[in-house]
Amino acid sequence: MIRRTNIKYLVVILAVIYFLHLYFTTNNSQPSLSEPSESHEKLKFELEIPRKEVPVSNNFNHTRQIGKAKACFVILIRNEDLHEFRATMRQLEDRFNHKYNYPYVFLNDVPFTEGFKKFTRALTNAKTEYGLIPKKQWSVPDYIDTEFLEERLEEMEDDEIAYGGSLSYRHMCRYESGFFFRHKLLDKYDYYWRVEPGVQFYCDIDFDPFVYIRNHDIKYTFTVSLREYPETIPTLWKAVKGFIKKYPQYIEKDNLMDFISDDNGKTYNLCHFWSNFEIGDLNLWRSEAYLKFFDYLDRKGGFFYERWGDAPVHSIAAALFLKKHQVHFFNEIGYKHEPFMHCPKEEKLQLKCHCDPNKNFDFDSYSCTGKFIDLVSKWKLEKFRGRGN
Ligand code: GDP
Ligand code: MN
Repeated sequence: MIRRTNIKYLVVILAVIYFLHLYFTTNNSQPSLSEPSESHEKLKFELEIPRKEVPVSNNFNHTRQIGKAKACFVILIRNEDLHEFRATMRQLEDRFNHKYNYPYVFLNDVPFTEGFKKFTRALTNAKTEYGLIPKKQWSVPDYIDTEFLEERLEEMEDDEIAYGGSLSYRHMCRYESGFFFRHKLLDKYDYYWRVEPGVQFYCDIDFDPFVYIRNHDIKYTFTVSLREYPETIPTLWKAVKGFIKKYPQYIEKDNLMDFISDDNGKTYNLCHFWSNFEIGDLNLWRSEAYLKFFDYLDRKGGFFYERWGDAPVHSIAAALFLKKHQVHFFNEIGYKHEPFMHCPKEEKLQLKCHCDPNKNFDFDSYSCTGKFIDLVSKWKLEKFRGRGN
């Protein structure tokens, strides 16, 4: 009796399994990417228009650079940022680089995967290079007190300061501040364009920004500027003042101090150029003045004990070491790094863009671009009247 009931149950269970199997194999409307189902294959066969194979764009016969500057894109990036970067790279190529073929230099603190290389190469005809960051430039230096650093990470994490508890973010900021331009893959270049995964380029760039800055003696450019979180840089300005006192010979007379300070250098007003976009002259960072500046700041420990960003560090250096005309606002380049966007408002420019000019950040109270424009216009007017430098 008991046995027969068991067999009955077994038969029922087997029948249920069989029907479930049948249901999932025939009604699966989402075929997996790796193993297309039979019905999907059939549909594909019915819909497909026969066509000739088109060769993939990454044909190494086309890598010739057309742009006339010794310049490249520099991208510090993780392997896992690949897919975000592909969208950015597509826009950069479509809006600009397919006409110039400037090379790409990718940098990483760990080796790039073959997949990363394959999928980035496939998006451009230009040369792509992949560099590993020397370990020493992505480690905590021996003059840093690691116990104190641990305490500070915890404290800043508890205070909910952006990236306050992250050590890798600190390495990133320090690397962008003091080392990227020393990478051996960059030795052959004079100019660079920094690009980050996920950023957007909204406008056709019908001119060569590298040649433009070379011809106009410009060394640093930006599209977005804003104010820094003060909690990330409590002692940065004190260190900057210490540097100015120790090395007055490096400070440019016709500088942009008024962009970064509202009281002639006494305090920092937190204004900085947003360094996730930069087109600039590598020789600015390779200069004796900047190398001394970085080293001076680095020894203070603020990249680790606080969370000094490369944006205020680059901006303060550009403001102190360059002449006013050597920093330039690229109004033509529509750009967004979440959450802020520069979208040119002028109709002539807007016709070549796909951004909403009403969402332009330039004149938001948190932006410093209005201040920069006022300062430079005032200086131009004074120069025109013969009273300026
Ligand atoms: P945010 O823009 O300040 O929010 O910082 P991101 O996360 O965008 O980092 C800035 C840049 O550094 C981006 O290009 C990142 O891909 C890159 N980056 C950040 N952390 C790391 C890291 O640990 N390793 C590498 N290789 N790149 C990093
Ligand atoms: Mn970013």
